[in-house]
Amino acid sequence: MAKTILKSVFHQGNFCDILISNKRFAKIGGLTPKDYEKAKVVDCNGLAILPPFYNGHCHAAMTLLRGYADDMPLQEWLQNHIWPFEGKMKPKDIEIGSRLAILEMIKSGTVFFADMYWHREQTMKVVKEMGIRATIGVTFAEGLVPQEAIENNFKFLRDHKFESDRVALAVMPHSPYMVGEKLFKRCAQVAREEEMILHTHLAETKKEVADCKKQYGCTPVELMDRYGVLGGNFVAAHCVHMNQDDMAMMAESCSAAILNPCSNLKLCSGIPKIPKMLESGMLVGIGTDGASSNNNLDMHEEMKLTSLLTKVSSSAEKLPAGEVLKMATSNVAIAYGIPAGVIAEGFLADALLVDLKNERLNPCHNLVSNWVYAADSSSIHSVLCNGQFVMENHHVDGEEDIVREAELCAKRLA
Ligand SMILES: [Zn+2]
Repeated sequence: MAKTILKSVFHQGNFCDILISNKRFAKIGGLTPKDYEKAKVVDCNGLAILPPFYNGHCHAAMTLLRGYADDMPLQEWLQNHIWPFEGKMKPKDIEIGSRLAILEMIKSGTVFFADMYWHREQTMKVVKEMGIRATIGVTFAEGLVPQEAIENNFKFLRDHKFESDRVALAVMPHSPYMVGEKLFKRCAQVAREEEMILHTHLAETKKEVADCKKQYGCTPVELMDRYGVLGGNFVAAHCVHMNQDDMAMMAESCSAAILNPCSNLKLCSGIPKIPKMLESGMLVGIGTDGASSNNNLDMHEEMKLTSLLTKVSSSAEKLPAGEVLKMATSNVAIAYGIPAGVIAEGFLADALLVDLKNERLNPCHNLVSNWVYAADSSSIHSVLCNGQFVMENHHVDGEEDIVREAELCAKRLA
């Protein structure tokens, strides 16, 4: 059984030794001489341990579209630029784009992402290869794919369910406006039967809510309730335009919401009512959305933005640093059913080691405050996922090649 000891690491105000065994935090402090036998000891002098980020909503391979079309309204952006570009993307391109995305996520402290895109086999392959976690969506969008592909999707979900302890599959109907009642209900049923997460875009724009009311006479959340979708395995992205009743329904059903504030601001979709969402008791996490509308996958930026948007729309004492950190870490892990996101015994050994000498972490009156409000990725020294280092001393294996390959690929596609 592989053992690693993080020696003299700063954790919650003290320096201690942490034992990682069987992919989990086995002991935090109080190690005995026996624990050091046959263990790999990593000197963590000058480093603090923090939970890493869990990205609750992403379209990883869209890193290839970063900066390709900006500063235009949503429909023009999608129809004239994004969809034609995506139409040219082959499975190999998805692999290259996903690799760039995962590199960027690791370097900015993220060890998990939930992905909704096409050619899931390629993204799964790269996740396994690069050592992080993911919930990979099998995406449903009526009109964009033939009936045969829909049947293949359901088959794929069942056939590839247990491929890796770091990769889960999820049922991902794109949105209620791209997937009709019959197929949405079938997605919900399969997700329940297979004990999978069901993830969709929901209440992203005012227009979506108005169209839904016109077509179905109810809000998108009420529509999800009618379809029997709400529940502990339901995770909705965006949730910008929810009313009080929607929030109560989400909270009562133990459904989770993933906020994507940067994308919502950039595409002019609006600001979610975060204080009200938190008061409702619903589980709220954070994600980045794709790099075509963000334009990066930096969860730290997203976390800080969530905190500031909450304060400006309510009061300065709302959502203190420790709470918004949970929204970017453990809340997303809970939403996706992963026992991680907390540096505590028994949890999966995912962690960041941050450099206490970094200028943005000094002076250090309060490490969590510094981390949330002052720091950026430059203070991340190393990243661990599942007890393994996926970045050591600021370096990820093969990173130069990953960037070069993505640049060539994007040029060819554009
Ligand atoms: Zn999205």
